This record gives sequence, structure tokens and C-alpha cells, in this order.
Amino acid sequence: MHQLPTSIDGLALFLDFDGTLVDLAPRPDLVHLPDPVRHSLRDLAARTGGALALVSGRPIAEIDHYLAPLNLPAAGLHGAERRSLDGTIRRFDVDRNEVAVMRHAAQAFVDATPGLLLEDKGIGIAIHYRQAPEHADAVRRLAITLIAPRRRSFTVQPGKMVVEIKPRGLDKGSAIAAFMQEAPFAGRRAVFLGDDLTDEKGFAALRRLSGGGDRGGIGVKVGEGPTQAPCRLPDVAAVHHWLADLAAHAPSAH
Ligand SMILES: [Mg+2]
Repeated sequence: MHQLPTSIDGLALFLDFDGTLVDLAPRPDLVHLPDPVRHSLRDLAARTGGALALVSGRPIAEIDHYLAPLNLPAAGLHGAERRSLDGTIRRFDVDRNEVAVMRHAAQAFVDATPGLLLEDKGIGIAIHYRQAPEHADAVRRLAITLIAPRRRSFTVQPGKMVVEIKPRGLDKGSAIAAFMQEAPFAGRRAVFLGDDLTDEKGFAALRRLSGGGDRGGIGVKVGEGPTQAPCRLPDVAAVHHWLADLAAHAPSAH
């Protein structure tokens, strides 16, 4: 394991949201971002000239809701939408009819299975089974069945107590790489914190940035489990402490 950075100087910060900045809740709409963390994010965004972005599976609109009044650069829906610092939003689109067919079939399954929750993500769907973990395998099989005739356009993304169907070819790694091509991220050293399987694509992208040498990106896995990230923080509370320490650390003299 490597040491985490202790100074924000020269860094570009990429943060997953659920399970990284906020503890997971029984339902996705019950998460809460503590005010001191919001203040750390505000200060760190200022200290990096705006090189702080959220990289989430949620839509950007939901990220904005939980971070308000902050309005930070963000990638939503695993990279299917991305907002730069200047406010420009790029959206990847898919065949909405295909999504509607899969959503309809998933809804019928969810209605017949107590404890499951279907989330409409527009360009895909998510089936949450946190209230009914005994149905994990059935949900996974359903998702695989649904994408089978559409495998060139859609893929299955497993997560913590959730299985998502999302457009193929979009992931957090491509979102981070796109941010790193533009101001104010370009030329900084990328640090990405994430807790779930979808974040491994982000960690992989960091290794590729700058050839993965000493100036390459730094992945930070939050929590337990196998990862290709070289650093680790034990839980969301540790993330909060690290962000507060970074924000409090005096800028180096130039
Ligand atoms: Mg997460």
C-alpha cells in the first residue's frame, strides 16, 4: 500500500459519491452529506482551481441535489453525462426504446418480487436488492437475460446490493480520462476515491495516465475487498477525515 497524499498542491481530485462521500443507506434517496464535508469540498475545489469532480453512477442532477449549494464538475451515470468546470454538459445517448423494453420487463419482475427497487436512469436501469439480498442471483440473471439480445449496446454493471444495465463502452475511467484532457485538470496528478466494482475502471484509467509512473494517478479504494488501487481508506469516515486534513493543510509557499 502507498501513502495517501497529504497536500492538495498539484492534485486533481475525483470522488465517487455513494459509499465514498456518504454512507450507503437502506434506500438510495436516504443518503446524507454532512455539512463539514461540504465545506471541505468547497475549500478543496477553491484550492485546486476547480480541479475537483464527482464521478458517480447517479445522474448529475442528483449529485447537485445532495451537494447543494455546491455545483462541481461531475460525471454522472458512470460517465454517460459529464459536466466540465465551465458548465458545459456532454450527454451520451442510447436507443431509448431498447431501454424502455428492458425497463418494462424489469418492472414486472420487481413488482412480483417484494423488496426489490427499480430505478429508472434514463439511459439505463438499476435494480436494487438491499431489502431482499436473497434475490441477488435472480436479479443478476434477469439483467443478463435482458441485455442478451442487445449485448452490442448494453452491459451489466454489478455493484453493492445493485445490478445496473448501462450503455456499453461508458465507464468512470473514460470519464476521468476526459476530465484530465481539459482545464483545470490537465497537468495535475489525478487522485480518485471509490468503493465499488464500477470504480475499478477508474483505478485502471489512473494507472494508464502518464504511463503509470511516479506522476501517474493514485487510486484510493474505500473499504475492504480486492482492488487494483494502490491506496486504501477503511471507510467513509476516514475519507471525511482525509478531506478535512487536506483542506486544512497550508498551501506550500511559491
Ligand atoms: Mg460508490
